[in-house]
Amino acid sequence: MQMQIDYAMEMDQLDELKDYREEFIFPDKLRAPDGRSCVYLAGNSLGLQPRSTRRMILEELEDWGDYGVEGHFHARRPWLPYHEFVTAYSARLVGALPSEVVVMNSLTVNLHLMMISFYRPTSDRYQIICEKGAFPSDQYAVASQAALHGLNPADTVIELAPRAGEDTLRPDDIIEAIQKSGARLALVMLGNVNYLTGQAFDMAAISRAAHAVGALAGFNLAHGAGNLHLHLHQDEVDFAVWCSYKYLNAGPGGIAGCFVHERHANSFDLPRLAGWWGHDKVDRFKMEPDFRPMTGAEGWQLSNPPIFQLAALKASLELFDRAGMAALRAKGDALTGYMEHLLTVDLHEDGRVAPDFLSIITPADKNQRGSQLSIRFKGDGKKLLQAFKQEGVVCDFREPDIIRATPAPMYCSFQDVHRFYEVVKKFAQAEK
Ligand SMILES: *Cc1c(COP(=O)(O)O)cnc(C)c1O
Repeated sequence: MQMQIDYAMEMDQLDELKDYREEFIFPDKLRAPDGRSCVYLAGNSLGLQPRSTRRMILEELEDWGDYGVEGHFHARRPWLPYHEFVTAYSARLVGALPSEVVVMNSLTVNLHLMMISFYRPTSDRYQIICEKGAFPSDQYAVASQAALHGLNPADTVIELAPRAGEDTLRPDDIIEAIQKSGARLALVMLGNVNYLTGQAFDMAAISRAAHAVGALAGFNLAHGAGNLHLHLHQDEVDFAVWCSYKYLNAGPGGIAGCFVHERHANSFDLPRLAGWWGHDKVDRFKMEPDFRPMTGAEGWQLSNPPIFQLAALKASLELFDRAGMAALRAKGDALTGYMEHLLTVDLHEDGRVAPDFLSIITPADKNQRGSQLSIRFKGDGKKLLQAFKQEGVVCDFREPDIIRATPAPMYCSFQDVHRFYEVVKKFAQAEK
């Protein structure tokens, strides 16, 4: 069945989230040469700017100007408890209790802070399972944590790789690796969506398997927060970290998030790196020499947070909270499914495209992916990028032959997906 432009127009009509698109700024400099606004499929790298962000940051600048130091108490949103203004939003976003989440620092910093507490190797139990080819920052973080404990990363870090000739991990292979490491396993540290392949992992099953052998499970949600409908508390995840500038649209270098499961968050036995913002807020300003952490994830805070970044995050999370992750994920599945259908079925209907022109690396099972499709194609990548640019389509290209296209449900439409497809089709026909 051809699912052409009429279908896209109808789906956009019916879309209950269609008005959210108006809440975002589509970059002027990325317009198609003929003036059409861009199709933005790069929200997995840097999300678009919500229109409300500017006002939210300007209000903080105004209050700083008006109140100086007293803004900590008298700004319209007082700076002292400012991070608490995004706690409920963050908790609903990732499926956590409010006490289990905090926003602070940036992603890799939070990953290290969590591993300081949750990776405590002994002579018997010291292994860490992660992905081969994980995002480089994660690999450096894991290897340097092993080295911090005087261990050789080469025999400490177990890297999971797809089987020969395959692009993604088989879920059963992950569980088997956990069981095999068994009593030697200290920590499973995975992304919940792989940045390159778009494969999503079953966090509940992985956490269960880790706990069954006496290990802990932590996840990097860089490509999951704001993308998947998450249930961290229920899934018994031990800890998780995420950034806010990809799917979460909080701006470049935005403040990051952190989740600590209740059963750890209220225990003061875990070693942690301490700073004054993690001290019990009741007497934080007594400035006493002994550190007494707050209960909950907030007890891992180090510094007073960057208010402008928090303002940007608040602007964005208000939209996520209003739309709701269940509805966003449902639309995301529909958009991604539509893109998949166009690329695998419609593309070949008239026989003008080589059957092996492209293959989708991202799993077809929607429980194993979010909004991103990673597409391997044949042909000259530079020429394809040029073709995208000519049509105002923004997605990313990874040498030598992978495109990552992410129709983020918050601001992408079915017609956007169709415009992307038209470029691919024209290019594919010319390459044949
Ligand atoms: C984007 C991303 C990062 C980036 O880390 P920062 O500390 O925010 O610079 C790290 N890990 C993964 C998996 C990512 O996708």
